[in-house]
Amino acid sequence: MVAWDKSHEKISRLYSYSLGDFHDFDFCVFSFLVKHHLNKKYQLAVGNVYQAIGTLLDLGIKQYHKAKLYKQPLKNAVPIIASVSMLIREKVSQSGKDSFYSKTVEFLSPQTIQEASRVFENYYHHLDGQIKFAISNKEFWDYILTGGKYKLWGGPDSIEMGEDGIPEVVDYKYFHKENGEDRLDMEKMPKLYLLLVSRDLIKLGYKKARFTIRLWQKPKDNTLSFEFDLANISQLEEYFYQQIEEIVNLKMFSFCTKHFCQVCSSPQRNEWVNDLKILNIHLAEAEPQYHS
Ligand SMILES: [Zn+2]
Repeated sequence: MVAWDKSHEKISRLYSYSLGDFHDFDFCVFSFLVKHHLNKKYQLAVGNVYQAIGTLLDLGIKQYHKAKLYKQPLKNAVPIIASVSMLIREKVSQSGKDSFYSKTVEFLSPQTIQEASRVFENYYHHLDGQIKFAISNKEFWDYILTGGKYKLWGGPDSIEMGEDGIPEVVDYKYFHKENGEDRLDMEKMPKLYLLLVSRDLIKLGYKKARFTIRLWQKPKDNTLSFEFDLANISQLEEYFYQQIEEIVNLKMFSFCTKHFCQVCSSPQRNEWVNDLKILNIHLAEAEPQYHS
């Protein structure tokens, strides 16, 4: 997922959630609380080369749609990756070192750009340049849940028109390991992206949408795809309402025992525990043994 982060004034951060926030919560509650509630998400973000390649590719397809390069020869499409890398640098120079793309910038080397360009070229080549056209160039969605208390934000990489006239809500994925798609979140991600774009699609007169994953390294694989009836959007609302209620009603937490959890193993953790007390969220008395 790639999205431009914007703060929305009306609903406070404590009641605003993105896909990454739900994933952080599922991984480790304390880590989530520090990143989300204490607003340390970008400061604690850790990037790597593969994440940077994925970001270049995902932003590349957005730019491709925006510039409407459909059916153009490959030589016109590939320079997009290099231009996207400049765009990322620009975003970070505007928004500062603790912002959405700040960890990506650290890994934008000529090699990273070259590898992303190679993957893009290969994808384009295998599809014969037949990339489906986008029905919207929106890059970011906000969705206030019924009741007006909670907000979801973020969005898919694109909404493209399927051959059968059903819009496809698409997330592009790059993996550095073989069959990385086997570990994809096919629960919260499709639900959230469908919900975020649903009001736009309904407004445009669509009754159905197809959630689709496109794999940068497997251009012809269309297996990660399913149709959704937009009349059932209230089910998705309810799902996220419950997820958020569970989070905001939480008053206790424990450290996790994952040795690679950078938050639970941080020397700053006591400081964060104290900061969370101010929000009336407390460390549980019986602390599990920490495995180093
Ligand atoms: Zn943890």
